[in-house]
Amino acid sequence: MADTIERIKCLIIGSGPAGYTAAIYAARADLKPVMYTGMQMGGQLTTTTEVDNFPGYPNGTDGTAMMEDLKNQAERFGTQVRFGLVTSVDFSKEIGGIHKVTVDESIQIEAETVIISTGATAKYLGLESEQRLIGGGVSACATCDGFFYKGQDVVVVGAGDTAAEEATYLSNICKKVTLLVRKDYMRASKAMQHRVNKTANLEVKYNTEIDEVLGDNVVEGVRVFNNVTGKKEVIDVTGVFIAIGHRPNTEIFKGILDMDETGYLFTKGKSTKTNLPGVFAAGDVQDKEYRQAVTAAGTGCMAALDAERYLGSLD
Ligand SMILES: Cc1cc2nc3c(=O)[nH]c(=O)nc-3n(C[C@H](O)[C@H](O)[C@H](O)COP(=O)(O)OP(=O)(O)OC[C@H]3O[C@@H](n4cnc5c(N)ncnc54)[C@H](O)[C@@H]3O)c2cc1C
Repeated sequence: MADTIERIKCLIIGSGPAGYTAAIYAARADLKPVMYTGMQMGGQLTTTTEVDNFPGYPNGTDGTAMMEDLKNQAERFGTQVRFGLVTSVDFSKEIGGIHKVTVDESIQIEAETVIISTGATAKYLGLESEQRLIGGGVSACATCDGFFYKGQDVVVVGAGDTAAEEATYLSNICKKVTLLVRKDYMRASKAMQHRVNKTANLEVKYNTEIDEVLGDNVVEGVRVFNNVTGKKEVIDVTGVFIAIGHRPNTEIFKGILDMDETGYLFTKGKSTKTNLPGVFAAGDVQDKEYRQAVTAAGTGCMAALDAERYLGSLD
């Protein structure tokens, strides 16, 4: 049983670029938004020190500082930013219905609209050396960090379309890219495999796994092993890109909102509308294609506009 019940117009779940942008727009539209930040206040960008591709920062910026800017901007217009984790939801199926959301298993919020911007979490291999060197040469985003490895040698780990895309993207920037594939085949589409195979500076090593990422503070290489022969070798690289997938943070919406087989929320057409009226989704939680701060912010804006128009249509 909830300790507290509060009725609001607009609840925003998650405090990444999508959530804060939705908050800025919703607050300026007088929806008096309340945001619950989740455990990672500021979202994924708080794990990087260099953001070079968000418009408006000619000299780049630190991810945490940028998210603090976004928070301040959202608060300036009256958004209530609260630390807390949404633990369960009971969404209405009726147009104009009230959505019940429980925070930290104790606070109950009743919201006319809900904007879900809970993001996605990159999967890593789980090696101690990999975890230690995240931000020191280990990355899960070639589009974000590839530029920092211009003219250098890197490895990409993965076998699907994302790994193939990241490897070919990096091949345009880096001197040499080695794609490490755990099995003796790739899962990527035939078209993507064709692109990989015809890229001159991209080598694929099958049956190959990382044993250890080498380096104290920055990546100096990887020790890999062939999982058939057991043979080990060291590849000298400065960057290690892990492309084995992302896990959208949608566990609490399972069975309630429509999502694909990997858990990404479905939105309707070019809107941010989910399958339930008054519930909208923005950012990485509904986007497995682009996964960038600026696209997350863009859909955050759309979600707030969709929420405002939905409420307007009820009057
Ligand atoms: C290391 C790294 C570097 C990157 N560098 C760049 C870059 O340079 N440029 C770029 O454009 N992109 C970059 N990205 C990608 C970018 O961070 C994401 O595309 C972007 O953050 C997605 O924003 P989002 O708002 O959808 O979600 P996220 O940033 O993932 O935020 C999700 C939010 O939801 C909250 N949350 C989750 N579950 C709950 C819950 N149950 N209740 C309440 N809150 C919840 C979390 O606490 C978090 O605040 C990088 C990503 C990583 C990991």
